Amino acid sequence: MDQDQSGALRVVRQHRGTQYNISFLRKKENHMSQLTIRNVNILDGTGTEAFYGDVTIEDGRITGVGDATGSVTNNTTEIDGDGLHLAPGFIDTHSHDDGAFFRHPGMEFKLAQGVTSVVTGNCGFSAVPASAHMDSAKASGGILAGIQAGFTDLEGYFEAVLQNKPAINNMMLTGHNTVRSIVVGHEQRAPTREELRKMRALVEQQLEQGSCGFSTGLIYTPGKWSETEEIIELASAANLHNALYTTHMRNEGDRLLEAVEETLTIGQESDVHVHISHHKSAGQPNWGKVRASLERVDEALKLGQRVTLDVYPYTAGSGRMIEYFNLEKINRTFAEVIQLASCAAFRHYEGRMLVDIAKEEAIDITDLVKKILTAPGGEKTICVHFIIDEKDIETNLAHADMMVGSDGIPDLRGRPHPRLFGTFPRVLGKYVRERGILSLPEAVRRMTSLSAETFGLQDRGKIQAGYWADLVLFDPATIIDTATYDNPKQEPTGISLVVVNGNIALQNGQHSGAGAGKMLRYRREAFG
Ligand code: ZN
Repeated sequence: MDQDQSGALRVVRQHRGTQYNISFLRKKENHMSQLTIRNVNILDGTGTEAFYGDVTIEDGRITGVGDATGSVTNNTTEIDGDGLHLAPGFIDTHSHDDGAFFRHPGMEFKLAQGVTSVVTGNCGFSAVPASAHMDSAKASGGILAGIQAGFTDLEGYFEAVLQNKPAINNMMLTGHNTVRSIVVGHEQRAPTREELRKMRALVEQQLEQGSCGFSTGLIYTPGKWSETEEIIELASAANLHNALYTTHMRNEGDRLLEAVEETLTIGQESDVHVHISHHKSAGQPNWGKVRASLERVDEALKLGQRVTLDVYPYTAGSGRMIEYFNLEKINRTFAEVIQLASCAAFRHYEGRMLVDIAKEEAIDITDLVKKILTAPGGEKTICVHFIIDEKDIETNLAHADMMVGSDGIPDLRGRPHPRLFGTFPRVLGKYVRERGILSLPEAVRRMTSLSAETFGLQDRGKIQAGYWADLVLFDPATIIDTATYDNPKQEPTGISLVVVNGNIALQNGQHSGAGAGKMLRYRREAFG
């Protein structure tokens, strides 16, 4: 006889075989899939004010919103929300988590922020398509590090990720740099007509399998060698699927407005919805330009063009240090605002400003940059650079079509940019509660329903019967990020419960390991 509980129950059923015992078993099986969260202020994700009530959940989906008195059987898990606010799980529209789904399937740094879905494949770098002769992680400069298994397309990637029981949901973009690396390699030239056809076929294949759009990173190699025409041709593939074109634009500083113009042209010519990633004006001489950039976006919106944006709520950017420097002519001003995040060659530099290291070692800062980048493994160095004006973050967050995307680079060695751990609670604590830049229901809308509608996360982003039960319970009076540049790997406070597809993923600081995340297909049924 089986010693475990389910074995014992089977024996009971065999011996007695009554209806009672069978129904008891059924209830037992359903036990985990029924959940009621009582006494909460519901922010339903649409931007309307919170209303008081209960939310019932069964088999992963929301079944009722309002008063659940009397509708609950004794097989339901009940949680008293204690008057806290319940919102749809946050959607991180700008992540680089393609490889993190293998390296950190528990996605603790996202879950703890209340994030239940991410959009991956941003800035032109995606795990798929992949080819046997190319290492996606390497082609992305290590940003996608962690990718395992021998898949070549979205189907294969999804299958491989699901083996690891991911904690959160994933919707994917198809990256231009990835596609170009496979077809053209890292040659500085335009693709031939045949190569362009091959690139487009790869983009179309991912879109057919459920990718939500085509992304570019036009400051990175090899994307930066492409002309506007090439992007229009590839973005047009998204048109057939009513999918998106998202972009890390060609310039976010001196030539920001020209880059916005190029982006809008690509949107018009390919007739696709354009989404501007991590909108900013970088470098002190350019601060304030985001106002002109947003005015231009507003003009396009008035003319009926579909345009949206996202922003991360920090004054520093982060990325691969080698991408920002020409080793022949090192930009001193830029070097002076850099703090090192991850530096394999000189671990003792991590978390320190280059100016301080240069002073201590009595060397010129440009020589220090060269020393770091030319050391073995130096090209993998990730830096944090203070280039953004605080006022511009507020200008961005005040715009009605502005979503929130962390842009976190999931490299947990060294000291990653704190946005990896803190983005969403920081918007709600600092910009909503402390600064009053936007209201709480509006901030939640821009982290949930607006993102779900834009990126095609079907039946997500709202607390509504029939929708998937991705939920976050938090206290608007205390929610705040605790991750700092010096101590970045800190989970935020003020979030007491996170539910993913009806399963408790995080409760009172404890990650449950439920692994209930799904791989999502653009505007189609979730897959899992
Ligand atoms: Zn980017």
